[in-house]
Amino acid sequence: MLETFLLNFLILIIPMLIFLLFFENRPHSYHKYIFIVLSTVTMILCISFPIRLEIGFIFDLRYIPFIIVALYGGYKKVYPLYIALNIYRLYIGGDGVLESFLFSTVIFILVPLLNKQFLGLDSKKRIISAPIVSFLTMGLYLMILSMYFETLTKEFWELACYALTTHTSLMLIFIVLIERMINNMENRERFLLSEKLNVVSELSASVSHEIRNPLTVTSGFLQLLLKSKNITQVEKGYIELSLQELNRAEKIVSDYLSFAKPQSENMVHSNLETEVEYTKNLILPYATMHQVDVQYRFSNTLNKRYDRNQIQQCLINLYKNGIESMKGRGGTLSIDVSESKKNILIKIQDTGVGMTKEEISRLGKPYFSTKEEGTGLGMLMVFSTVNKVKGTIDVESKKGKGSSFLITIPT
Ligand code: ADP
Ligand code: MG
Repeated sequence: MLETFLLNFLILIIPMLIFLLFFENRPHSYHKYIFIVLSTVTMILCISFPIRLEIGFIFDLRYIPFIIVALYGGYKKVYPLYIALNIYRLYIGGDGVLESFLFSTVIFILVPLLNKQFLGLDSKKRIISAPIVSFLTMGLYLMILSMYFETLTKEFWELACYALTTHTSLMLIFIVLIERMINNMENRERFLLSEKLNVVSELSASVSHEIRNPLTVTSGFLQLLLKSKNITQVEKGYIELSLQELNRAEKIVSDYLSFAKPQSENMVHSNLETEVEYTKNLILPYATMHQVDVQYRFSNTLNKRYDRNQIQQCLINLYKNGIESMKGRGGTLSIDVSESKKNILIKIQDTGVGMTKEEISRLGKPYFSTKEEGTGLGMLMVFSTVNKVKGTIDVESKKGKGSSFLITIPT
């Protein structure tokens, strides 16, 4: 009995090893397919090697992978498992094919109902709730099984105890492992992003610093030249064009410069109110120019240490993007700063053109811009600044409806 138990443990743990060793670094879009295939194989193996109790009963752990996929993936992902389960059960034949089909259908209908709520839970609560689902599933199974007996013997209760504890405890072990895996993957991604932003920020700070001086000098001399009397009108036009382009270059550089390391004289410990108010007032004329209505709410009392200039630049970039997304159509830009559980929440919403999923995923990559005059540096600066205060950004957007940026800054 111990042998079959260990065999089942192995069957369940090998797919995780395979995933970690071979597939973890593949693009995320593949993960779900690998997850489904591995779970299906695991389930089939669980059915093929059931646990035989000395008292003569047998039971298997097929519902462990099944429930895991149902909880994490919902109906769509568990559907292949449901089909595979029943085809394989039909192929094995013997007694109870119909019962197995009915039972799996009930589980197939009920468990994925919890998918949305399950994914909404935090890691700890998921670790608690999955074994509960597993316990209830096995409980239901045993209840149905008990109806086939005239009297419930001692052996049946033994089976029940054994099946319930095995099923629940194994589920607990595997859900802990899976959550650990997810957690590790997320941490690594966050770390990589933060490294990348640090490199960008350091490089751009030094480059832009070096470029600024020559730009100022050139622009100064060109302005002098423009005043000269012995140049023609055409030449004047050329100089004006050059000045315009220099201005643009300077604008880009000043966007870049704000990436620079936080400067000690700019560091403040405050609740953001001054910065949010100041930047909002700064942007008001720009909003009016584009027929955009600005709504503002501030209710944060938590304090945080941050670089004042950087936060201001970051907020301006976000407001500007919001307003620009409503160019020529008007709308509302709403700015809402609040607090929740030791976090400062900054929510900036617009009713503009919105973005597709693909555009959202490209946000913050240098030079991603859909605007003619755009630089794509604005969001890069936003991500870099938020990263520096250890915050996160959640973007929600619907094409044609508008976008919302939620910045969560822990204190
Ligand atoms: P830029 O504003 O110079 O184009 P950003 O980095 O600020 O560069 O923004 C990059 C791109 O992200 C924009 O060109 C736009 O396509 C998209 N974007 C950013 N914010 C919004 C928003 N609020 N609504 C719609 N699209 C947005
Ligand atoms: Mg921008």
